[in-house]
Amino acid sequence: MTNCIFCKIVSKEIPSEVLYENDHVIAVLDINPIHLGHALILPKKHCNDFLDLPEETYHSILQAAKIVTLALVQSLKLEGYNLFSNNGTIAGQSVFHFHLHITPRYRNDNIRFVLNLKEYSGGDMKKYGTMIRKFIKPPAL
Ligand code: AMP
Ligand code: ZN
Repeated sequence: MTNCIFCKIVSKEIPSEVLYENDHVIAVLDINPIHLGHALILPKKHCNDFLDLPEETYHSILQAAKIVTLALVQSLKLEGYNLFSNNGTIAGQSVFHFHLHITPRYRNDNIRFVLNLKEYSGGDMKKYGTMIRKFIKPPAL
């Protein structure tokens, strides 16, 4: 993709602080970190979001996430961290090349999603389960 900032990171057209890379993925430091050390895992092949990820990248992405997370935990002596991915503009995605965020967390760092948690009433949990299960498509063997 010609105009994708993360493709430019992959091709080294723009500089980045690379933590790890292999044939399929690259892990870099986020330029505007939630906490210093905040890392991003990107597939080298362009894909817009999670649903666009080619199956052959699944393993590499999780493997790289674990390698980088362990390095963050050990180097920064972390007690906790978050892994997350924003998908879609309304979910906060700003770069449309799939990426996984890994950010350090610290005691009393005052970072929290402001959540207005709901409850299922009546038969709604069953209703939602039934509705969603109709669209579950297990992978072909
Ligand atoms: P999201 O908003 O979930 O799509 O995340 C995009 C992330 O990419 C943000 O946290 C940005 O700070 C980060 N980002 C944008 N441009 C760069 C760049 N050139 N190098 C490293 N991180 C970047
Ligand atoms: Zn891209």
